[in-house]
Amino acid sequence: MKAPNFEYRRPESLTEALELLAQHGDDATIIAGGQSLLALLNFRMAAPELLVDIGRLEELKQITGGADHVEIGGLVRHCDLAASPLIAQTLPLLPQAIGHIAHPAVRHRGTIGGSLAMADPAAELAACCLALDATFSLVSARGQRWVGVGDFFQGVYETALESDEVLTAIRLPKPAPDSVGIFKEVARRQGDFAMAGLAFVTAADSGPRIALLGVADRPMLARRTMAFLKDSPLNEARAKEAVDLIGTEVDPPEDPTYPPAYRRHLVQVLLQRVLMELIQ
Ligand SMILES: Cc1cc2nc3c(=O)[nH]c(=O)nc-3n(C[C@H](O)[C@H](O)[C@H](O)COP(=O)(O)OP(=O)(O)OC[C@H]3O[C@@H](n4cnc5c(N)ncnc54)[C@H](O)[C@@H]3O)c2cc1C
Repeated sequence: MKAPNFEYRRPESLTEALELLAQHGDDATIIAGGQSLLALLNFRMAAPELLVDIGRLEELKQITGGADHVEIGGLVRHCDLAASPLIAQTLPLLPQAIGHIAHPAVRHRGTIGGSLAMADPAAELAACCLALDATFSLVSARGQRWVGVGDFFQGVYETALESDEVLTAIRLPKPAPDSVGIFKEVARRQGDFAMAGLAFVTAADSGPRIALLGVADRPMLARRTMAFLKDSPLNEARAKEAVDLIGTEVDPPEDPTYPPAYRRHLVQVLLQRVLMELIQ
């Protein structure tokens, strides 16, 4: 099918984009890389009257480092994130995860803001943002607000974004220098959305944060397993207990292709692989 008719505007500044979104309300939709939205339009699952193309907003394409955080503009493409020396040095979890997103062509157009705004429960970057405890800058003509990752994702394709808001930046606390980030997932083929995945971040002074993707209506923290692993040094016996425990706190929704028990098993296998890597 082809997309329904729509008006198209390509603002040259964020202010202009925000004015358009404020004027047109629910009738307007932002387009960034188009890697999800174009499919939705072509399948007629979205029919906006106006597309606001934010692709020229250079101010949303920056990656900057502060004393205690890194800020990633909402329009930073997956390929630029994966190639950034600052990200490789401070947040190596992200390039690992990006290697699993789709194929190079998609990664050369898709943006982090688009991926997070889309809120696919199996999206790699959403789980990484949860593991890294991100905060999101949402800007509209009414002003700016910062929303924590735990409040941002609200269900399958549901977020805290209002229709006139742009996700302008993602702020990630810099992990401790001795921290370790490991990303793992299982997909049927390289580039497919994951059946299940796991983003794991830990440091000597803090317990691990374990974010899971593909097993709930949004990325989720394995809180009981995190608390268990925080309490004492890791060895093979404790790793086995943690793997059993994570199986009890994951409750994937029914899915005819990948039954819940199978995806729960995948999470356990992924955690086992991560913990064995850490022990070795
Ligand atoms: C073949 C294929 C395979 C894929 N595989 C994966 C995969 O394995 N993992 C994965 O995570 N994704 C995958 N994707 C999806 C894709 O990577 C992301 O959804 C994409 O990065 C979205 O970014 P975009 O810039 O293209 O967003 P767009 O398609 O332009 O927009 C997506 C949605 O986000 C909104 N939006 C975009 N930017 C903003 C913003 N800054 N502020 C507010 N709202 C905004 C739009 O209005 C729209 O609703 C795949 C896509 C394709 C085509």
